[in-house]
Amino acid sequence: MEKISIAIDGPASSGKSTVAKILASDFNFIYVDTGAMYRAITFLAIKHQVAFSNEKALVDLTRKYPITFKQTARGQLVFADGEEITQAIRQPDVTAAVSEVSAHGEVRAELVEAQRQLAEAGGVVMDGRDIGTTVLPKAQVKIFLVASVEERAQRRYKENQEKGIEMDFEAIKEAIAKRDYLDSHREVSPLVQATDAELVDTTGMSIEQVVTKIKEVIYSKGF
Ligand code: C5P
Repeated sequence: MEKISIAIDGPASSGKSTVAKILASDFNFIYVDTGAMYRAITFLAIKHQVAFSNEKALVDLTRKYPITFKQTARGQLVFADGEEITQAIRQPDVTAAVSEVSAHGEVRAELVEAQRQLAEAGGVVMDGRDIGTTVLPKAQVKIFLVASVEERAQRRYKENQEKGIEMDFEAIKEAIAKRDYLDSHREVSPLVQATDAELVDTTGMSIEQVVTKIKEVIYSKGF
């Protein structure tokens, strides 16, 4: 497989990271989880008692504490400020605040720069909200993954139970809908389908079916 860039965007819990990881492994590409980077800054803000509204202090956090990823047999681990934060960034306190943190233009500028550097050599699958529109506008393949809120909440509920995170179904559904609203209505790089992205509605589809569908899109472009 040619070392192309594959951008996967879409709303919360639409299955982006699951399929992005499979594609990266099948093509021997690197996987970049940009949501984990916004979550890491949110985690650092909580840890260092920085207000989510304080754009300047949040930017200082991103400069002071670089976020790093490490591939291991246990999956991709996330580190910042001298500790492993893979699990911590998935907790409800971080999830509830991340859309406020990610709405700041200066915070985004810092992270977009880091994301572009990670993708520089090509051979990358990157997932997020603005990859096809802002981070990698020249990505050879762009996918916009959607699914009904009901189904996304069910998937997240199951995932949370497996990870031991306690949160009731209605609360999850509400949190997802709220995050989608904030992410699609912010001023800077809102969640929106790129004009040249392929829309894939995963409602009722299995992970394997979604992966197959995306590979069809990739192959149909001659890669
Ligand atoms: O993908 P995930 O749900 O982990 O992303 C967490 C949050 O990070 C999103 O709700 C959004 O606010 C922010 N985000 C973003 N741009 C990206 C990726 C994530 O604003 N490219």
